[in-house]
Amino acid sequence: MAENTPAISLRGLTKSFGSVTAVSNLDLDIKSGEFFSMLGPSGSGKTTVLRMIAGFELATSGQVFLDGEDVSAKAPFDRNVNTVFQDYALFPHMTVLENVAYGLRVRGVGKAERNAQALEALETVRLGEFGGRKPSELSGGQRQRVALARAIIVKPKVLLLDEPLGALDLKLREQMQIELKELQRELAITFIFVTHDQEEALTLSDRIAVFNQGKIEQIGTPRELYEHPKTPFVAGFVGTTNIFEADEAKSLFGKSIKASIRPERVEIVKGKSSNTHMGRVIEAIYVGSATRVHIKLDAGPKITALVQSGSTVDESWHRDQEVQVALNEKDLVVLETK
Ligand code: ATP
Repeated sequence: MAENTPAISLRGLTKSFGSVTAVSNLDLDIKSGEFFSMLGPSGSGKTTVLRMIAGFELATSGQVFLDGEDVSAKAPFDRNVNTVFQDYALFPHMTVLENVAYGLRVRGVGKAERNAQALEALETVRLGEFGGRKPSELSGGQRQRVALARAIIVKPKVLLLDEPLGALDLKLREQMQIELKELQRELAITFIFVTHDQEEALTLSDRIAVFNQGKIEQIGTPRELYEHPKTPFVAGFVGTTNIFEADEAKSLFGKSIKASIRPERVEIVKGKSSNTHMGRVIEAIYVGSATRVHIKLDAGPKITALVQSGSTVDESWHRDQEVQVALNEKDLVVLETK
């Protein structure tokens, strides 16, 4: 196998359900060992792509390659991938330890060895104490972690994860994100992660594909997508942003272009200068580490500024308060219009 053969290649992949085209003519290469996320709103086709990679869904047209081999017509169990779904179906009559050990049992690994490995996998997801319980005696989040342990124990080349942290509360979710990332580095497994949570995708991924209506709008590293979004959809879906239509950009920057500027790049300043604009506060929302200040500029457009708590201009703004906003052309990201 050539060293740079992608772990997964999709070519012209299309899936239709009756008149609905869920995935449209998709081309994608995912490198071996990559943490790759598919990010997009509900119904954008992410899960359908994942199911076609796993083999649970056959493509209407196009091909799926795993390690350079065309597996388009192969059954799920003939593909060296493992999937963790939103609905982590565990065997209810087996203990947690037996559930996790199951994949090794069907591969003929002896009892002592598979139990030792299952315990290790459970410890990885911080459930070492829970091996003797039945799945019904666990919380939703704990069951989700058992499903993860069950998938990693067989050390698949590719692990497909469909919103695996969806049922967890925020604190646990954040802890699990860090552990998932460590786990992936440690095991050197290619992770393909489906999520609609942009922050989660930014935190975890080496690269992200942003999905919109069955197509990929843009692929890039978290930094590339956040700092150089190519389309209004990507700019708005990855983080929050201010988007200006061509006439608004003309009034603020003298350029007739569709463009975006991130709230943290919008500065509220004390003095007036060549790049400042007068405006009035519509609303100021304090979020602890920062305040989101929504402003109506005298020139017309509305804009949001993110002011870090403790910065020199930080204060308790009130509605209708006059503010000076500095906008720097270097922070403007030009967006494609279709
Ligand atoms: P979510 O985040 O809600 O899971 P998604 O981006 O994963 O969304 P998909 O589940 O891939 O989206 O669905 C893409 C489109 O295909 C949707 O319009 C959906 O209604 C449709 N679809 C998916 N599965 C089927 C099916 N079995 N039969 C008919 N339509 C389907």
